[in-house]
Amino acid sequence: MSFTPIFPGSINAAGRPATLGVMGGGQLGRMFVHAAQRLGYFTAVLDPDKASPAGRVSHHHIATDYGFKPGLRQLSLLCDAITTEFENVPAGSLLALAANRPMAPGAAAVAIAQNRIEEKAHFTASAGVAGVTCAPYAVIETAEQLEAVAAELLPGILKTARLGYDGKGQVRVKDAAELAAAWARLKQVPCVLEKLLPLKAECSVIVARGWDGAITGFAPQFNVHVDGILAVTAAYEGNLPPALARRARTATESIANHIGYVGVLCVEFFVVDDGTADGALVVNEMAPRPHNSGHYTLDACDVSQFDLQVHTMAGLPLPQPRQHSPAIMLNLLGDVWLDAAGQPRAPDWQAVLALPGAHLHLYGKLEARPGRKMGHLTLTGADTAAVKAVARQAAALLSLPGLDALE
Ligand code: ADP
Ligand code: MG
Repeated sequence: MSFTPIFPGSINAAGRPATLGVMGGGQLGRMFVHAAQRLGYFTAVLDPDKASPAGRVSHHHIATDYGFKPGLRQLSLLCDAITTEFENVPAGSLLALAANRPMAPGAAAVAIAQNRIEEKAHFTASAGVAGVTCAPYAVIETAEQLEAVAAELLPGILKTARLGYDGKGQVRVKDAAELAAAWARLKQVPCVLEKLLPLKAECSVIVARGWDGAITGFAPQFNVHVDGILAVTAAYEGNLPPALARRARTATESIANHIGYVGVLCVEFFVVDDGTADGALVVNEMAPRPHNSGHYTLDACDVSQFDLQVHTMAGLPLPQPRQHSPAIMLNLLGDVWLDAAGQPRAPDWQAVLALPGAHLHLYGKLEARPGRKMGHLTLTGADTAAVKAVARQAAALLSLPGLDALE
C-alpha cells in the first residue's frame, strides 16, 4: 500500500503540528509517547484514567472511555495516525478511528489478537510454512464440544477466548471432571482447551512491518515466566539454538505478511521438549503492539521497538536495528515495593543504580500492588557473562525470581 509519510515536525493540512495518537495510556503507551516526542511529533493518548502513565507525559490526553464517540472523534481530529498499546480496544472503536485516520495495526489484525480461536486459525494458516504449529487444542463454546474433548488433550489448560492476560482467564485441568467444573467457573464463555505441553523454554519475536510490506525486527528473545507473568528476558548471542531462532523469526514474518500487518508485532512461542536437542517450536499467541519482552531494545539496541512503532505508523523507513550490547531485562512488579508481610518498603535504588549497565525504567504508577507492572530494569554489559553476573546482583538486591532458568 502506498502511504504518504507523516514527517516529524511538519504541519498538517489542518495547520497543526504532526501528531501521533495511541489508544491506551499504560506503560507501553508511555514509552511510545517518549519515542514519538523524541523524534519531534506531538502526541495524543486516549485513556479514561486521568493518572495513566502515558496520559501524564503526552501533549494531549483524552480521558474518556474507549467506546465514547466524542472522545474517539477528538482523537481523530488531533492525530495524523493512530496506534494501540493494548489489544482489547473495542473493535467498533478501531473501525471508527480507521474510517478517518491511518490505523496501525489495523482493526482486523487487532480483532484476531483479541480472540484465541481466531488467532489459532490464523497461526495454522500462516506459521505452518515454517513448520510451526499451535499446541493441540479444542474449541469449547457448547456443552457438546465440552463432552467431545479428546482424552489426549488432558491434562490441559482451559483459556478464555477473550480478555486473558498475564495468566488470567486460565485454569489448569487434569481430567474431564475438572474441565467441566473449570468451564462452569468461567461462566461457560467461549474457551480453548490446550494440551499442557512440557516446556523447555519460551521465546518471542518482535518484527515491524510497514505500509509497503517492508519488514524488519529483532533477534528472538528468551523469556522466563513466573506465575504466568513475564519475569526475565534474555537477549544475547546463544540465548536460543540458532536454527530454532531462525524458524521463529520466519514464522513471525509469515504471520505478519499473511494479514498484511502494519505496525509492531510480537509473537510468543513455546520450545517444547520432544526429545530432540533443540526442542520443537510451538506458536502460542501474538500481541499487535510492542511487548514487555522487547523493553531491552530501549537500552541495548540503536533502534527500539517503540521507535519502530513510530516509524511504521508514520510511514517512515524501517532501518534494521542493531543490538550493541547483550542484555537481560528484569520485570519490576509491585511485589518489589512490598515486604514479606505485605507492608510497603523502599527498594534499594542506591545499590541497584550503582551497578554497571543498570537502566531503570519506572512507569509513574504511584500505587504498588502485587503483580502490578511498575517498571523494569535492563542490564547491559560487554559480554554475556558480564550481563548475567550483574543481573544476578540486581535480582539479589530486589529479591527478583526467574534468573535460575538462564543457567
Ligand atoms: P497470557 O495471555 O496470560 O500471556 P499465555 O497463553 O501466554 O497467556 O499463557 C501464560 C503462560 O502459561 C505461558 O507463558 C506459559 O508459561 C504457560 N502456558 C500457557 N499455555 C501452555 C501450554 N499449553 N502448555 C504449557 N504451558 C503453558
Ligand atoms: Mg502470553
